[in-house]
Amino acid sequence: MRLFACFYLLLTAFPAWCGSLALTADRMLDVKSGEVITDAIVMIDGNIISQAGPATQIAIPEGTRTINLGDATLLPGLMDMHVHLTSDAALHGYKRLAVSLPRATITGVKHARATLNAGFTTVRNVGAPGFADVALKNAIRAGDISGPRMFVAGPSLGVTGGHCDNNLLPYDYHDSSEGVADGPWEIRKAVRRNIKYGADLIKFCATGGVLSKGTRVGAQQYTLEEMQALVEEAHLRGLTVATHAHGTSGIKQAIQAGVDSVEHASLLDDEAIAMALEKGTYLSMDIYVTEYILGEGAKAGILEESLAKERTVGKTQRENFRKAVEAGVKMVFGSDAGVYPHGNNAKQFARMVKFGMTPLQAIQAATINAATLLKQNATLGSIEDGKLADIIAVSGNPLSQVNTLENVLLVVKDGQVIKHPDKR
Ligand SMILES: [Zn+2]
Repeated sequence: MRLFACFYLLLTAFPAWCGSLALTADRMLDVKSGEVITDAIVMIDGNIISQAGPATQIAIPEGTRTINLGDATLLPGLMDMHVHLTSDAALHGYKRLAVSLPRATITGVKHARATLNAGFTTVRNVGAPGFADVALKNAIRAGDISGPRMFVAGPSLGVTGGHCDNNLLPYDYHDSSEGVADGPWEIRKAVRRNIKYGADLIKFCATGGVLSKGTRVGAQQYTLEEMQALVEEAHLRGLTVATHAHGTSGIKQAIQAGVDSVEHASLLDDEAIAMALEKGTYLSMDIYVTEYILGEGAKAGILEESLAKERTVGKTQRENFRKAVEAGVKMVFGSDAGVYPHGNNAKQFARMVKFGMTPLQAIQAATINAATLLKQNATLGSIEDGKLADIIAVSGNPLSQVNTLENVLLVVKDGQVIKHPDKR
């Protein structure tokens, strides 16, 4: 269809439309080196970046569609490694029980659009019931709906009665989440099932959590033996593994088992930091969400016991974020959007800087580091010739004012202009 439209336009007035696009801005950030290129041009051919660099080295062919951004900075599309697109931040606890799977999936369509418009061109969806995340991903790929590139986990795996189970209803209902799997072989089978139905990665719960009923946030849930079976099975099939882990022993045993990323990582200690450094494990610490949980959570249905847990871990998590950054642990940007409203993902940047990162480090966490964790760094994560054209622009310079990332001017995904500065 697009080729046909392109051919048609070739015969008419706009030869440059067929895939060629030029972006110009006062600045462009090289996220690998941290260098800011002034007076920059990015040339896009179809969905690929064909050239990027200073205006002195690049000529824009006559007739090329050009977007001049002026006092703005071009950056690679942002990447959030911890979202739940099918979750509604206004519906927690018992309110969420009334939401059907089809309804949650439709909500996901709205959230996908909001996320992309906020400049997040790639997300990792770490837990969704009924493989609704696979459906969303496929609908976005097919061009049926607008949204970020998705890497999806399907249902999160966990123990009976654990954080990844649903513990809201009494025994009479015989209800448990589809990700429940106990013991190495049940877990291996659950990994195989998630792969069968379209998972790109495996997510599991190593410890209790804040928002689940009746779990102790610091208590380990899967045993080391179970985690080793899970990670071995996933890696055998070429998938990465993300683990939800707040508690210290759960974090350490998950790292020992070989997980690729630890989510939350609230109760890290020095030994856990040393282990993450040694193994090259990524941490994905959601240090903004605590403000939403404690501010808006009660209204949204978050249980009182969950609010009490958040009061105990939120502050510690931020202190430990600072320690992990100082130690040089690999970090990715993971927000847990879905617990708080989608589209507000970028609010976390200012907190990452407040708690120890430079603005460049925070941006790297959401670009090149995330692309590397996803094993997509050959095609995503930086503005370089030959990479996919996922590009955003923000006004001013995010290295001096990181919260400018909260208001993106331009979003280009796969060479398509999603958000244009003149049409905000
Ligand atoms: Zn989450």
